[in-house]
Amino acid sequence: MLLLARTAPAGAKRSDGLSVFLLDMQASKGRGLTLKKIPAMINHNSCEVFFDDLEIPADTLVGEAGKGFRYIVESMNAERILIAYECLGDADYFLARASAYARDRVVFGRPIGANQGLQFPLAEAYAKTEAARLMVEKAAALFDAGQTPAAEANMAKLLAADASWAAAEVAMQVFGGFAFAREYGIERKWRETRLYQTAPISRNMILSYLAQHVLDLPRSY
Ligand SMILES: Cc1cc2nc3c(=O)[nH]c(=O)nc-3n(C[C@H](O)[C@H](O)[C@H](O)COP(=O)(O)OP(=O)(O)OC[C@H]3O[C@@H](n4cnc5c(N)ncnc54)[C@H](O)[C@@H]3O)c2cc1C
Repeated sequence: MLLLARTAPAGAKRSDGLSVFLLDMQASKGRGLTLKKIPAMINHNSCEVFFDDLEIPADTLVGEAGKGFRYIVESMNAERILIAYECLGDADYFLARASAYARDRVVFGRPIGANQGLQFPLAEAYAKTEAARLMVEKAAALFDAGQTPAAEANMAKLLAADASWAAAEVAMQVFGGFAFAREYGIERKWRETRLYQTAPISRNMILSYLAQHVLDLPRSY
């Protein structure tokens, strides 16, 4: 585990005095580190982590002491871009599955995909996905060029998560009652992609970041 811990009192900035450690979780269990599984709606395991007077060996320090917050923040841009690509993949999946089902499923003598009530939300989710893709690719290109594209990485994650959620919602509708049947796989993916409205950073915190750091508005929290 990469652990960010306070190793000195905050300086001029609250983020000063934090350090990163590479923690050996197996060795730390029972010596101040406790893991408790959280049964959850998503498709991978999740757990709570408790620290009680855990001693961390000094030689597990990553980089320079006190500079940890900067290291973590820089890795967050990469994480946001990565999650944004995952969201685009989810959106592509939902749109492909829902369009195929809408072409095939015949009700009252015509495919349900002939109805604008299904076509329009599908087309809108597609447009949102393609617009998000432009921002995700921009953020990735800036990151690959060695820059620190915080605003672009945040916007990429925001827009791609919203696009995947729009596509998830329309897929749930297009599949009708079968959307709820496990065998179709739609509800599983729908649960998974809902996560990205909240984690690894919630929509509200991205909007706060853009308001404060791009639009120069007062900090709101
Ligand atoms: C499945 C899963 C896996 C995760 N994996 C990891 C992981 O590997 N590593 C890790 O570090 N974290 C992980 N997280 C944690 C995740 O990053 C947080 O849950 C997420 O950032 C939201 O923080 P929180 O839960 O503390 O919500 P809170 O901060 O309590 O916020 C709750 C709600 O209030 C809103 N809110 C809070 N403050 C404000 C404000 N000032 N203005 C407006 N709205 C506000 C939020 O947007 C949110 O909707 C994981 C979470 C989940 C669900």
